Amino acid sequence: MTRLGLLTSGGDAPGTNACIRAVVRTAIYHDFDVVGVHRGFAGLMEEKFERLYGRFVGGIAHRGGTILKTARTEKFKTEEGRRQALENLKNHEVDVLVVIGGDGSLTGALRLHEMGFPVVGIPATIDNDVAFTDMALGVDTAMNTAVRAIDRIKDTATSHRRAFLVETMGRDSGYLALMVGMASAAEAVIIPEVPASCEQILGVIQEAYSKGKAHFIVVIAEGAQPDCLTIDEFLREREKELGFGVRVSILGYIQRGGSPTAFDRLLGTRLGVSAVEELAHGGRGTMVGLVGSQVVATDLREVISSRREVDLSLYELAQRLEIYPPAP
Ligand code: ADP
Repeated sequence: MTRLGLLTSGGDAPGTNACIRAVVRTAIYHDFDVVGVHRGFAGLMEEKFERLYGRFVGGIAHRGGTILKTARTEKFKTEEGRRQALENLKNHEVDVLVVIGGDGSLTGALRLHEMGFPVVGIPATIDNDVAFTDMALGVDTAMNTAVRAIDRIKDTATSHRRAFLVETMGRDSGYLALMVGMASAAEAVIIPEVPASCEQILGVIQEAYSKGKAHFIVVIAEGAQPDCLTIDEFLREREKELGFGVRVSILGYIQRGGSPTAFDRLLGTRLGVSAVEELAHGGRGTMVGLVGSQVVATDLREVISSRREVDLSLYELAQRLEIYPPAP
């Protein structure tokens, strides 16, 4: 009998529990034994293994986070750490492994595959920066959470006639900020991929003020670096000449949590089922992702050697909607 191991690693993403449920149920359907590994690769090295049964995953699809817990660990980046993990997998008679996580976790999965262990990966990250999947698990929920938060911020911004800087997550990727900015009809979106000038932002806010606008919303990705040290200080120091009062709201971790949207539950379910089918049919060293409307398996090496960039044509679209800054 095949024994399937399952772990969740790196940044947590909503929809992961629906995915865990799908992996476990599909594995049981294929007569596999299932072993859950708690706390990602750390648990793999520390032997945090637990047999999973169908009932273990009942009533979890609507919950955020991951019931298997997650972790980050530098030790797994060393050959010694991975050797320990492989030995533990062998001792627990685990034959194949499903890894749910972002690009770091998928790199870890690839390293195990390169050491001869059969692995299939599932992309889960609210940054949506994993290649060969149009959407990673968790992105849709994070976008919806941020848009709802900005709707609320807009109410107070309008009441007080203020400019708001709203920071979304995204250290290296502006995907979330750009999509959220468009969906919430922001006036400006600042992302790491496109240079933005603080003086120009000041100018557009002033222009909006002189046109009688009731508020000004700037969505800024966590990792964006406009050409002044900190844009909030820059704007706050100029509140008087600006006309608008300036406030900052960092959305932070609320974007990770919460009940997943129907889209993320369905995506998690489809990817979970496909990952097990992939292993059942002999697929190894691949990642299952959403390409168009289909779930497609791609070699992990290809996935890891590329990066999903923000589609700059979307940026042009934002430009047509008069969202600052203009496309590069
Ligand atoms: P995410 O999976 O969300 O991108 P991280 O980048 O923090 O999160 O990666 C999660 C974990 O994956 C790391 O803590 C580490 O254990 C493992 N990992 C990341 N990069 C590598 C690597 N190059 N080799 C082996 N393991 C890695």
